[in-house]
Amino acid sequence: MARLPKRTAKTKQTPPPATLGFGMSKRKDPVWQCVEGCGACCKLDKGPSFATPEEIFTDPADVELYRSMVGSDGWCVHFEKSTRKCSIYNERPYFCRVEAEVFDKLYGISRKKFNTEACRSCMDTIKSVYGPYSKELGHYNSTVTSSNTS
Ligand code: SF4
Ligand code: SF4
Repeated sequence: MARLPKRTAKTKQTPPPATLGFGMSKRKDPVWQCVEGCGACCKLDKGPSFATPEEIFTDPADVELYRSMVGSDGWCVHFEKSTRKCSIYNERPYFCRVEAEVFDKLYGISRKKFNTEACRSCMDTIKSVYGPYSKELGHYNSTVTSSNTS
């Protein structure tokens, strides 16, 4: 699921510029999309720099469901590591969906800021799970920037 680092979760801080670490300002702004072969957000236990379920959810049932999904290695029990796909994709919980309504509900992020924050969330998550110099992060960066045709 899209689980934001503590700096954005429910703090409503002003986000930094939309360059999102993609380099100089003349680069294209990224357009959010989920990329094949990633799955970083399905590592549910990402450590202390990410908000806890109790900090994210107001409904105790969501906390309970989230915690029930965390496997002993920190990955979601529904995540297929060999394919890096969700085994319950069509029935996955609402909080797994990177959608404007979900970001608004969970993090207080407006629709206008959704694209920027969703890209940032993926970048932070991929960095945390696969590393800042990982091929996964490189693939993500090139995909979301090249999808901007403007
Ligand atoms: S971190 Fe982003 S790109 Fe990676 S699986 Fe999750 S939503 Fe998709
Ligand atoms: S239910 Fe699916 S999308 Fe949600 S964290 Fe688990 S594997 Fe990922």
